[in-house]
Amino acid sequence: MLITGASRGIGAATAKLAAADGYSVAINYCHNSQAAERVVQEIVGAGGKAIALPGDVSQEGDVIAMFEQLDQQLGAITHLVNNAGILARQARLEEMDSERLNRVFSINVTGSFLCAREAAKRMSKRHGGEGGAIVNLSSIAARLGAPDEYVDYAASKGAIDAMTIGLAKELAEEGIRVNAVRPGIIYTDIHASGGEPGRVDRLKSSVPMKRGGESEEVAQAILWLLSDQASYTTGSFIDVSGGRI
Ligand code: NAP
Repeated sequence: MLITGASRGIGAATAKLAAADGYSVAINYCHNSQAAERVVQEIVGAGGKAIALPGDVSQEGDVIAMFEQLDQQLGAITHLVNNAGILARQARLEEMDSERLNRVFSINVTGSFLCAREAAKRMSKRHGGEGGAIVNLSSIAARLGAPDEYVDYAASKGAIDAMTIGLAKELAEEGIRVNAVRPGIIYTDIHASGGEPGRVDRLKSSVPMKRGGESEEVAQAILWLLSDQASYTTGSFIDVSGGRI
């Protein structure tokens, strides 16, 4: 299994849970090699199999090199989690320049497409593979739109929803299931990168369950969608948002 952006947050929690379930996992990261190495060590220390793979998912060369490393070190990929994603600082439309927009869309959308492409080439029965499963990280923001915070991010997750539906249909006959998880507000570093580390606590009273979520709660949904228990599920979405929809 390859999990993009697995050095921290939801990706790291997914990697640990997947390894405990018996998957060999590749932990992709962009900058934070120490955090990725810590996840690897934790998994290996618990008797699992994990490697760290650097690469910026928005860079085609990095993605191709990452999959080649994966082929060599773990063998043919069977499961992909398109988890790497960013948001920029909270801003209104007037403050959004093209540099920001291109960064958000290239990491969140282009990156997910590039990784899905490389995974599908290897998994697809049309190309001699044995099938597989892909889970994309969308967001409840795709529905709510994230006004006054990051409409660009929300729109990138709307693109992930459309990608999930389209690829699920395109790849179904080739043995590849494609689904997505839409987290609500989850305690990770991503809110600090938007300029508000305390965002989850500020908003938690607006969540029907009156709390933020934990990365492990999102990871459980991802792992179910990847598993054979979800063998007839494709083009589907699980909202993991405490009822905030
Ligand atoms: P996070 O804590 O900020 O972690 C982001 C991860 O992505 C890190 O491992 C980071 O690697 C990696 N990353 C960033 N840019 C990358 C790039 N260009 N190429 C490869 N890896 C890259 O994020 P998170 O909250 O766990 O979010 C994970 C996913 O869930 C994202 O797609 C996010 O949009 C989605 N989501 C999160 C929430 C939430 O409330 N947390 C809600 C809805 C959806 P480095 O450590 O190397 O920087």
